Amino acid sequence: MPKHQLVVIGAGPGGYVAAIKAAQLGLDVACVEKEQALGGTCLRVGCIPSKALLDASEKIHAAELNQFIGVKIGQAELDLPALMAHKDKVVRANTEGIAYLFKKNKVTRYLGHGKIVAPNKVVVEGPEGVQELETERILIATGSKVAPLKGVELDYDIVGTSDQAIAYPKVPENLVVIGGGVIGLELGSVWNRLGSRVTVLEYLPTILGGMDGEIAKAAEKIFKKQGLEIRTGVRVTAAFARDGKGVVEYEGGEPLVADRVLLATGRVPNTDGLGLENVGLSTDERGRIPVNAHYQTAVPSIFAIGDVIAGPMLAHKAEEEGYAAVEYMVTGYGHVDYNSIPNVVYTHPEIASVGKTEEELKAAEISYKKGSFPFSANGRARAMNDTDGFAKILAHAETDRILGVHIIGPRAGDLIAEAAVAMAFHASSEDLARASHAHPTLAEVLKEAALAAWDKPIHI
Ligand code: FAD
Ligand code: NAD
Repeated sequence: MPKHQLVVIGAGPGGYVAAIKAAQLGLDVACVEKEQALGGTCLRVGCIPSKALLDASEKIHAAELNQFIGVKIGQAELDLPALMAHKDKVVRANTEGIAYLFKKNKVTRYLGHGKIVAPNKVVVEGPEGVQELETERILIATGSKVAPLKGVELDYDIVGTSDQAIAYPKVPENLVVIGGGVIGLELGSVWNRLGSRVTVLEYLPTILGGMDGEIAKAAEKIFKKQGLEIRTGVRVTAAFARDGKGVVEYEGGEPLVADRVLLATGRVPNTDGLGLENVGLSTDERGRIPVNAHYQTAVPSIFAIGDVIAGPMLAHKAEEEGYAAVEYMVTGYGHVDYNSIPNVVYTHPEIASVGKTEEELKAAEISYKKGSFPFSANGRARAMNDTDGFAKILAHAETDRILGVHIIGPRAGDLIAEAAVAMAFHASSEDLARASHAHPTLAEVLKEAALAAWDKPIHI
């Protein structure tokens, strides 16, 4: 029976980072993954393919609208198979990259479904038959799956999930998206740009629930201008395929009929067939595996990280936890700063945030000051002809410590890195305002917002 010091179950961003870090720290580590391609939801069907489609569709749309400055182009024509081939190539490069890193770091790979049968034993069932692995520790990194919605009958074709929406073989004439969250808006934007009539149905009064209210409101206005039909306060009660079309029923209105329906109302932890019952482990009311501050479950030899435990379902959060979990195992020390984990929505403009929203600060009765600055007053944004949006910095009213940063605008997802680092180092808005920012850059929007929070902006 093969013996290892650590067996990681799942090779998503949490699991593969943990496996590589464990190998770097000198452990004999194995990773069990049921899919042929490594990289998990994120690399195979999530972050990477969706961003390949978002980036390319933005350029295709600009070409179709003849929006390139200083050049007139003829009639642009969409080549959907070429776009999908590009996405598949990007996914392959990334997933094969993880296979290379496993080899380089001597991480043993097992292809198959991993099941825990004892605190120190994992059984792998795969194409090569059944194998039993003995191990000192087990790290569960099995990620998440689409949350079912009552009344929605998925046929994984006409009525499907993001797995289908990153690979529609033809542009649907109309697409109904159930859920105005991150997936709904990102993939809704892709198909809207490629020519679909997209209707987003959101249960809450605003899209992007949980985001800063002012930012979510601005986003809704911009997306509507882009042609997305967004209906808020709409509770979907049923969806099903009938006669080659998707039918969506909701409270208080006539059913919608569409070529495709995308269910995007959240994801839930994935513990299917994992064997938790064999070691006496149970999940909480939301299906998550409870862990302590060192990512250790109630069974001392078993640990868990990523989407399968509490916290935001984000690839970089899973990565941080994977890294820290093996550090705790080997060195006794690790660190994840949950206060400075950024969140990005890759629409156009992008939306990015880190730290507390205004709503959260008000609810916690923390007194704060606020500084905002619009992209329309930034030289680089004007040069790029991309001036929608603003940045907003929230700082403590007395100490000036930065409590939250929220951006909607071009490259917000890259700009937020500076704010996350500033928050990790407990910077004040004065610190950020006094730091030199290259001119002319989009980052100057953050400097000016910091100036506005601390004292007064210069350029507005
Ligand atoms: P996962 O990536 O889900 O990996 C878990 C792995 O475990 C999978 O490969 C699975 O096959 C394997 N597995 C499960 N059970 C077993 C078993 N019993 N035996 C063997 N293998 C098993 N996050 C971002 O931060 N940025 C984004 O831009 C972003 N975009 C997204 C877009 C979409 C469409 C989706 C669906 C998600 C997106 N996410 C994004 C979320 C991100 O994908 C997840 O937060 C992240 O993948 C979680 O990592 P993980 O390692 O916990 O789990
Ligand atoms: P989400 O939680 O972001 O949004 C789901 C939305 O569906 C919510 O706004 C909710 O109010 C709405 N909803 C729920 N029930 C409804 C109903 N019956 N009718 C209408 N609307 C309803 O979930 P998601 O968009 O499916 O994304 C899942 C996870 O994947 C998220 O947790 C996110 O963190 C992650 N993800 C991240 C990124 C990124 O970081 N850019 C991209 C995609 C996905």
